[in-house]
Amino acid sequence: MTDIEAETPAIEVRNPGTGDLVGTVPDQSAAEVAAAVRELRLFQPEWEAIGADGRKEWLMKLQDWIIDNTEQLADVLQSETSKPRADALIDPAFATDLIGFYARRAGKFLADDHPSPHSPLARVKRLTTVYSPYPVVGVITPWNFPLAMPALDVIPALAAGAAVLLKPSEVTPLSALELARGWAEIGAPPVFAVVTGGGATGAAVVANADYIQFTGSTATGKKIAAACVERLVPYSLELGGKDPAIVLADADLDRAAHGVAFGGMFNSGQVCISVERVYVEAPVYDEFVAKLTDAVAALRQGLDGRESKHDVGGLANEAQVAIVQRHIDEAVAAGARVATGGKRTGQGTLFQPTVLLDVDHSMACIREETFGPTLPVVEVADEAEAIRLANDSQYGLSASVWTADKARGERVARQLNAGAVNINDVFANLFNFALPMGGWKQSGIGARWGGAAGVRKYCRQKAITTPLLPTAQKELTWFPYQMPKLMVALGAMRAAGARGKRRFDLAGVRKIQGGSK
Ligand code: NAD
Repeated sequence: MTDIEAETPAIEVRNPGTGDLVGTVPDQSAAEVAAAVRELRLFQPEWEAIGADGRKEWLMKLQDWIIDNTEQLADVLQSETSKPRADALIDPAFATDLIGFYARRAGKFLADDHPSPHSPLARVKRLTTVYSPYPVVGVITPWNFPLAMPALDVIPALAAGAAVLLKPSEVTPLSALELARGWAEIGAPPVFAVVTGGGATGAAVVANADYIQFTGSTATGKKIAAACVERLVPYSLELGGKDPAIVLADADLDRAAHGVAFGGMFNSGQVCISVERVYVEAPVYDEFVAKLTDAVAALRQGLDGRESKHDVGGLANEAQVAIVQRHIDEAVAAGARVATGGKRTGQGTLFQPTVLLDVDHSMACIREETFGPTLPVVEVADEAEAIRLANDSQYGLSASVWTADKARGERVARQLNAGAVNINDVFANLFNFALPMGGWKQSGIGARWGGAAGVRKYCRQKAITTPLLPTAQKELTWFPYQMPKLMVALGAMRAAGARGKRRFDLAGVRKIQGGSK
């Protein structure tokens, strides 16, 4: 059990599978959050000053620490989530991969840019874009990947040269505290801190940090956006989803069934980019449904110790169980059929992996984010109907298309209103840090990663112009205005920007003189 020096009230952390109390953390006040941000501000300038290479050293030491402490990290993560052991091991591996990418490349990504001037007139200057980190980035995370989710955004922000204050979910704060323990144990500069608490603690982070990186529900994201607008601080929101999978008639149906089963049931469906709706072309509907039902019914569900025995564990808490049950019950009451699953197992928050058939587009299981182990399947006449229904959602996080024809897959992908589309796969974009991960519509604003963009987003850009030629006492366009000289400058601007004979139309420039000779 992890016991942090607790101010009252403390938050109890429980294993949702067993109900066991596995730790307590303080519910930190707004004053404590403000103090943490002040402290981070003191140390950030030095962190920025050591440069990307200096920061790389510390980040790679953290990576070593994560690798060396993987089993302990998985134990803590499992204790607060009831995930299968295999799932619990994913977070440390993911963090390791991400650290390697951003620690090694941040120097290149953050190097000054020297863009070419857009016009011959501007060639008298050397142009420089400088990337200067926001002093303190606030990262607020949900509970579904208690270690990976913080790492996704903390690591690029630290690599950018910002100090980071992390507020993990009150449901799963222990893994984030492990990350902070690792940072302290390697002796790194105190530019990364964790505060614990619920929504009020998160709101205090939003009230004090210079940039907010939020991952969580759309409802909370909107509150955070409003608070950021009030303070005029930038924010990036990674929100909910209702990801469609489109299975076309020419698909490899075995791969599609196994892929959709994995995409829908991984982490009990508690993944922002879980498959939450399936559209299947009519000619293969029956065959696909049979294969999908078999694949889902075969999943092994239960609670793992250190040995990996199960594919699916429990839901994060009773609130999640209630949402999943409601979506199924409402669908069944309106005429849907349960092909497999449909109820809780009776152990903790474990809920049977469920396939729903005969659903329609008015049902909550199709319209609202479930964030649980349900796969509603819809039969469609053709590709066009699949695209239309897939786009008929308030969300647009990601999607998958299953087809033997890659060109067709790409064609469908381009028509889907989503931040990512994986062809014949699920989650593949999540493992490619060179790509941006962001949602369209109600699924978010901004994106994480995307190679250089992933660290540059945590920086303010500064433009510097430096004369390349010896400078005269005055520029042509300075006071006092002298129209002949001004005409030369304006004519040159016109020549650079206009097209055809208008480029050299000095009569037009003369008109600017207002008739003066
Ligand atoms: P949530 O919105 O309830 O909470 C997320 C975090 O915000 C928690 O740390 C919470 O304490 C904090 N918070 C709550 N109110 C706040 C406020 N007013 N100001 C500041 N912080 C506040 O979400 P959740 O239930 O923890 O997570 C599930 C949601 O996260 C799902 O909707 C899921 O789709 C989404 N999610 C999105 C992504 C993505 O990358 N797009 C990834 C994972 C999860």
